[in-house]
Amino acid sequence: NRRFLLARRPHGTPVPEDFSLVEEPVPTAPEGGFVVRNCFASLDPAQRGWMDDAPSYMPPIPLGDPVRATTIGVIAESKSPDFAVGDWVLGMNGLEDYSVNGVGGFTMKVDVGLVDSPSRFLSAMGAVGLTAYFGLIDVAKPQPGETLLVSGAAGAVGSAVGQIGKILGCRVIGIAGGAEKCRRLIEDYGFDVAIDYKGKSVDQLAAEIRAAAPNGADVVFENVGGDVFDAELLNLAKHARIVLCGLISEYNSPTKIGARNLWSVLTNQATLYGYLIMDYAPRFPEGGAVMAQWMAEGRLRIDEDVQHGLENAYDAFMRLFSGANTGKLVLKIADG
Ligand code: NDP
Repeated sequence: NRRFLLARRPHGTPVPEDFSLVEEPVPTAPEGGFVVRNCFASLDPAQRGWMDDAPSYMPPIPLGDPVRATTIGVIAESKSPDFAVGDWVLGMNGLEDYSVNGVGGFTMKVDVGLVDSPSRFLSAMGAVGLTAYFGLIDVAKPQPGETLLVSGAAGAVGSAVGQIGKILGCRVIGIAGGAEKCRRLIEDYGFDVAIDYKGKSVDQLAAEIRAAAPNGADVVFENVGGDVFDAELLNLAKHARIVLCGLISEYNSPTKIGARNLWSVLTNQATLYGYLIMDYAPRFPEGGAVMAQWMAEGRLRIDEDVQHGLENAYDAFMRLFSGANTGKLVLKIADG
């Protein structure tokens, strides 16, 4: 059982020495639980937060434990009446070949016959696609004709947010890093406007947003924070709704940058929502069904960036922070 462990807490940007790949015996199922053979693991910006010893919505990953990850895999051994060997399950496990679960941990059975790859349950039908779905539909509640501004727009969450915004009849402006990502926003995801944030000051970026949305943004879906967020705050429409979904520009920063233009929230009587997808777990089947239908109708495109092998977990994870990932980042650990 190869396990990708958190060896020490990263200071700023993670380095390879913060982790270690070890080989241990395959675990056995505890009474009432089971062992999952992991096939795909989700690599998420949130994992960076779980590596810190800081108060959060989840406890820190204990040092010496495998990096916590949502995985999809097959039950290899079971002492649970609810799960049989061979069942496909989605659960909170770790970056390792085999995980023990079923005693208190989160696991649900999934029907992989419904999808072209089991990894879909980590992207479109998983927490990431549904982060876009519920954050927009339930939190921001955009109206047709409103302007939606999305940061991290070419990423897994952002690209889905923009496309759902178009389905809902919004005018959609995306902010992403580099010309190629901006091309994809327009050509692959149907955004109305794409803005490249790289190498621009807050004022320059704010001016580009203003040119694209002279009346301001009615909805801001925030994935990035820092300078990008500051530029967006200078472009709020009256009564704007801001969904604070993520702040990836700050995750590797030992000192937080913070938002300097919060005054604009006040003057525009805007609303800032702190948003966690975990609250919506009971409604995943409902959101997943809509996402699946949109995909089947060709209205929603969810790309995946599949990296291979536990031995490449560090390099794969760092793609989130260099911006190398094109779509939902997943690590393939084994065949089904
Ligand atoms: P993405 O697929 O969007 O990958 C991360 C992207 O972030 C990179 O490709 C890169 O794109 C961008 N990025 C990285 N570093 C920086 C930086 N310093 N400044 C600006 N952009 C940067 O990941 P996800 O879709 O999985 O996650 C997107 C956001 O959503 C994250 O903030 C994450 O924490 C959040 N999230 C929140 C959830 C919730 O419940 N609140 C649930 C799931 C995700 P580029 O090349 O454009 O810079």
